Amino acid sequence: MDSLYHFIFALVGGYVLVKGLGVRYNFLILTALAFFSILIDIDHLLGFHFFHNVFVLTPFVLLFFIALFMKLKRVQLYSLILVVILYGHLLADMTYGMGIPLFYPLDSSMKKVPYPAMKKNFVSPFGMTLLLYFGAIALLVLIYRIVKTVKCRRCSG
Ligand SMILES: [Zn+2]
Repeated sequence: MDSLYHFIFALVGGYVLVKGLGVRYNFLILTALAFFSILIDIDHLLGFHFFHNVFVLTPFVLLFFIALFMKLKRVQLYSLILVVILYGHLLADMTYGMGIPLFYPLDSSMKKVPYPAMKKNFVSPFGMTLLLYFGAIALLVLIYRIVKTVKCRRCSG
């Protein structure tokens, strides 16, 4: 995918996530994170696969849990957004073409978004990518709201 597509995909995904969570956010930071997510395309310029794999998410997942432990809500939010939009970047690059080496350096084989090939007019790789991206965001929002509801009941009860 091209960089503009990645930027818009990340910005929309991040925006849907923060709106779904119902939390305060800074639009400039969200935009900066969306821009940051396209930097992993440096792989395409240099001709290697260092950033286009699932392990690129690791530092930001760790940062999320550290922030969760230390109760740093802003860091928690922005690291979660980064994980989601980087996941979206990887997913978008798996939509067409030769795919990406998702588990590099453990496995160098190229992976693509799985989709039912039987009914191409009904489910395309692009539709499947949107489903996997926004479905994951919806799942995160749902988990957040359930946890928040349980915490609120404990507080009042
Ligand atoms: Zn890419």
